[in-house]
Amino acid sequence: MKVTFDGSICGRAGKCVGGLPNVFFVENDNLMIDTSKASEQEIRDCVAQCPSGALKCVDG
Ligand code: SF4
Repeated sequence: MKVTFDGSICGRAGKCVGGLPNVFFVENDNLMIDTSKASEQEIRDCVAQCPSGALKCVDG
């Protein structure tokens, strides 16, 4: 599973970085995503909290 991010629709609500800071973190103003740092279920649950739909889980 991969997680895609669309910065143009991100509302900066911070549910991602606040929820799973080891997976979602900001570097040089870019959102970085390291899916190796939590279980797939934890990541799916966190992505589901994204209010804008900027984060999406993509299988494969
Ligand atoms: S949870 Fe979604 S809207 Fe909020 S900062 Fe993360 S990507 Fe952006």
